[in-house]
Amino acid sequence: MNDAQKQIHESRLTDGRLPAFTSVGGYPLVYLAADGGCLCATCATSDGQTHDDSDPQWHLVGCDVHWEGEPLTCDHCGDDIESAYGEVLTAAPPLQLTDDDMSQLDVIGAQAQEDDGDF
Ligand SMILES: [Zn+2]
Repeated sequence: MNDAQKQIHESRLTDGRLPAFTSVGGYPLVYLAADGGCLCATCATSDGQTHDDSDPQWHLVGCDVHWEGEPLTCDHCGDDIESAYGEVLTAAPPLQLTDDDMSQLDVIGAQAQEDDGDF
């Protein structure tokens, strides 16, 4: 049993189920199988116990938080595993500051320093 598998084993809840969410923060967890598939907590728990653990599709090799992006699909039951922060939005174009903007920021900075001098 490697570190990742040991960690998975130790994360089992008192009733033997694998958690669907992290204990701190409640972030959604996805279980990774040796065949490269991903499983929801329910399938990772029930089928890992009833199927041959040496079968790559049930052999858990890791567990990870699904932070962001489109929902993952459990390779066994087809349920969606939602990400913690949802789909990644297209980033806004970078802010272009002109020299004029920069000189205004300098003024703001200078005022802030003057304010500090009052105390
Ligand atoms: Zn599933």
